[in-house]
Amino acid sequence: MIVVKVGGSAGIDYDAVCADIANLWNNGQKLVLVHGGSGETNRVAEALGHPPKFVTSPSGYTSRFTDRQTLEIFEMVYCGKINKGIVERLQRLGVNAVGLSGLDGRIFEGKHKDSVRSVEGGKVKVLRGDHTGTVEKVNTGLIELLLGAGYLPVLTPPAASYEGVAINVDGDRAAAALAVALKASTMLLLSNVPGLLRDYPDEASLIRSIPANDVESYLEFAQDRMKKKVLGAAEAVKGGVGRVIFGDARAGEPVSAALAGAGTVVQ
Ligand code: ADP
Repeated sequence: MIVVKVGGSAGIDYDAVCADIANLWNNGQKLVLVHGGSGETNRVAEALGHPPKFVTSPSGYTSRFTDRQTLEIFEMVYCGKINKGIVERLQRLGVNAVGLSGLDGRIFEGKHKDSVRSVEGGKVKVLRGDHTGTVEKVNTGLIELLLGAGYLPVLTPPAASYEGVAINVDGDRAAAALAVALKASTMLLLSNVPGLLRDYPDEASLIRSIPANDVESYLEFAQDRMKKKVLGAAEAVKGGVGRVIFGDARAGEPVSAALAGAGTVVQ
């Protein structure tokens, strides 16, 4: 079993990702696909007159402040446009894909964080009304039902809080929790960079391998949202996933290339 997470940044070639996945799937590879959608969500939010607001925590992690309206825009894009776009591509390629959010069947569950600490102008502010959280529990029943019946699950945030409220969760860390729960041998985190770069954005500075027992010390090379990928990789290998690969989803055969070891291999 492999878990493939494809991001939502500019430049990602969803046609190439889906063609590669269809090929692997039709050759008997069991897999679950998880996707993001942040780039498109930002565009739609701007167009709807509710521009995105990003907050940086005192420990340096950047996340989207998700008030109720932002959550609804987020769902329109992630569960709607992006999820159905991927399902349609896979259906055209003869793969019976089913698109679900983490809310459906409570696949992704976690604690609702209503407030977030944000560093603004050197001061720490507390913002309330946030709909975010972290996946703490993966309920695999529905996924196993689908896989057993020959369907390819295509999953996306949001997750369900323990009270049943939709919460925005990080897709990389959700994929990591899923890979652990499904006892996946490999998790791929595909984005618009060749892998983790020692000297971002210099693509020649690609880090080829990271030892599984030392992932956290590579956090220093990751800025912004790349930090969540490194964190997700650490969580996955700690949870028993054999290897995690940060790969490039911009062209070619992104999934096969990553499986063959292109990118940054955490093992
Ligand atoms: P996605 O939505 O595709 O999953 P993110 O935007 O969350 O991807 O994270 C990938 C981004 O992280 C890259 O586009 C890049 O701008 C940024 N980044 C920051 N530091 C690094 C680094 N050291 N190596 C590679 N990418 C990095």
